[in-house]
Amino acid sequence: MTSPRLDIDLGAFAHNVGVLSEIAKPSRTMLAVKANAYGHGMVPLARRALESGADSLAVLDVPAALALRRDGIDAQLFAWLHSPETDFERAIEADVDLGISSLWELEAIVAAWHGKPARVHLKIDTGLHRNGARPEDWPALVSAAMVAARDGYLRIEGIWSHLADASPEDDAEALTKLLEAVETARDLGCTPPLLHLAASSAGIREPEARLDLVRFGIAAYGISPFDDESGRDLGLRGVMTMRAPLSKTEGGEGIIALGTADGVPPNAAGRGEVTVRGRRHRVVSVDIDRLAFELGESAAEAGDDVIVFGPGDDGEATAEEWARWCETIGDEIVARAGERLPRFYRD
Ligand SMILES: *Cc1c(COP(=O)(O)O)cnc(C)c1O
Repeated sequence: MTSPRLDIDLGAFAHNVGVLSEIAKPSRTMLAVKANAYGHGMVPLARRALESGADSLAVLDVPAALALRRDGIDAQLFAWLHSPETDFERAIEADVDLGISSLWELEAIVAAWHGKPARVHLKIDTGLHRNGARPEDWPALVSAAMVAARDGYLRIEGIWSHLADASPEDDAEALTKLLEAVETARDLGCTPPLLHLAASSAGIREPEARLDLVRFGIAAYGISPFDDESGRDLGLRGVMTMRAPLSKTEGGEGIIALGTADGVPPNAAGRGEVTVRGRRHRVVSVDIDRLAFELGESAAEAGDDVIVFGPGDDGEATAEEWARWCETIGDEIVARAGERLPRFYRD
């Protein structure tokens, strides 16, 4: 190894997708590959997810869905974050399932019609307040969608929402609100085939929230959505390893060419631990492009492999530990690392 890098273990990812899709059964598994697959690289992870038990992919927006189509992925793709610039015409042409929350999206989809009905999933806000139709706007959205469906502009494929995962009680309340919205839609004559709500957290712990499909994200990357159980406790394996060769030793410190620009949290000094020759060493300082750590008694030399985080199999810290040290979530640790560093894939 000659420079800082990320190793992405596709075998571990496949294992995780298999574990999660078994947990979800008989519900289907949709795998979230948004944010460039949480920094792991969208296309290779999307492909592997579909080979390993996922039925469909959640991609956030239409450009990401179209990128997957260009790469030859023909599975069901779900995109739900739109703007007035969204190219609905190409999305419909490419059979992208569209999550929608409001009348303007519905109108834009109808305007983009070229003969093929769009596939839409209507979103109700169940408490997260991050798009989703408000309950008072729900009947109007459902009715308008039904008119558009009757006229052949679209097919209503699903009703869905997203959980805040604040507490099991909040999730239970959100489920109740979703089921009320489903009831309202049914009273209006709308009975789409797919209901979905749960992401990793509820998908693992709340069987009643699994409904027709679970949209798993972070857990598939080996990172637990819970504070009281690690990914390892859940039978999941870490997928990303961040490492760099030891550049030099100086004044009792080891230095690597990885810093905040590579996604190492700036507040890691005095908290984080890197691993060399199987032993952990406390981080002393983090700059934009370098990190220094206490060498202690170590006989480490320039060129040695320094692991910042990994699956934990050889005693190294995990992304979950880094998240705890730096008061953030594991998603942030891996996604930020993946923005700039080269990724190397292995099985
Ligand atoms: C990110 C996301 C997911 C996956 O969430 P995790 O908590 O990472 O499992 C599922 N659905 C939607 C709408 C999302 O935005």
